Amino acid sequence: MTTIMEGKKVAAYLSGEIADALAESHKHGINPKVAFVRIGELTDAISYENAAVKRLEKLGIETEQYHFAGDVSAKAFLTKFREINEDYSVNGILLLQPVPKHIDMKRVVELMNPIKDIDGMTPVNMGKVLTGEPDRLEPCTPAAVMEILKFYDIDLKGRNVTVVGASAVVGKPLTLSLINREATVTTCNLYTDDLVDKCRNADVIISAAGARNLIGDAHVKAGAVVIDVGINFTEEGRMVGDVDYEAVKDKTSYITPVPGGVGAITTTVLAYHLMMATDFQKEPVLFLED
Ligand code: NAD
Repeated sequence: MTTIMEGKKVAAYLSGEIADALAESHKHGINPKVAFVRIGELTDAISYENAAVKRLEKLGIETEQYHFAGDVSAKAFLTKFREINEDYSVNGILLLQPVPKHIDMKRVVELMNPIKDIDGMTPVNMGKVLTGEPDRLEPCTPAAVMEILKFYDIDLKGRNVTVVGASAVVGKPLTLSLINREATVTTCNLYTDDLVDKCRNADVIISAAGARNLIGDAHVKAGAVVIDVGINFTEEGRMVGDVDYEAVKDKTSYITPVPGGVGAITTTVLAYHLMMATDFQKEPVLFLED
């Protein structure tokens, strides 16, 4: 029998943990706050920001939005960004991507205080994902996948996991987290030869490629766990993932739907990371030198 892994159930569980941590913070007079930083008016960035602000506010978390014109000078932006970074009332920063080409993204990310980096973008947090440090802040999407696997009690030790997609924000950090859980991981990309061969023996397939119907019947063995991170749209504008859901659903043991799977958890994970960040900041806050 197939279990549909419902993002809203995982989000509800995490929301309970967030509520407890938030109440504890308030008891100590701390009101955790996220600063959203966006340059320009790109639709995807705006919709993600709006969804995240709505989710955080529903959880009772304060937000502040900093919007810059697409042609803001690098100097003016960096001056303000430093101010936000050093503001003691800001516990978490989310820099919306992409940023315009004239802004040196690498420099901005390196400037960000790692203990405010609630979407795991800084080299310090990337390094901590590599070593599996407990005080790491991971990128939210791979963290959401790991939360689903944990919630549904999927054993990873010694299991064969195929990750399809190797980007710095999803596939690569996810691969490291899975290795840290002692899985045997195969990570594929656009140039991987014979994707069916890399998937058909996998106990767990996680697809984060952004290619509709990439994973079909031939890729999935009976009883496999299938997690679909992909977001694609049909000609009619319907949101679908990378997996041919109807073709594989009945042969899987667990599967995430799209929508309603991974995407339904990421903004709650962002809030969860804020609570972790706020906790780390109980220690004296260190600022990286420019
Ligand atoms: P990306 O374009 O940066 O990386 C895609 C990766 O997939 C690359 O490594 C590429 O080589 C690989 N790939 C692409 N086509 C492939 C193919 N046909 N076969 C094998 N590998 C292939 O994308 P990303 O930012 O990592 O996002 C991946 C997908 O996840 C997108 O659909 C994106 O919209 C989605 N996404 C979803 C969430 C969520 O909350 N559900 C969050 C972030 C990204």
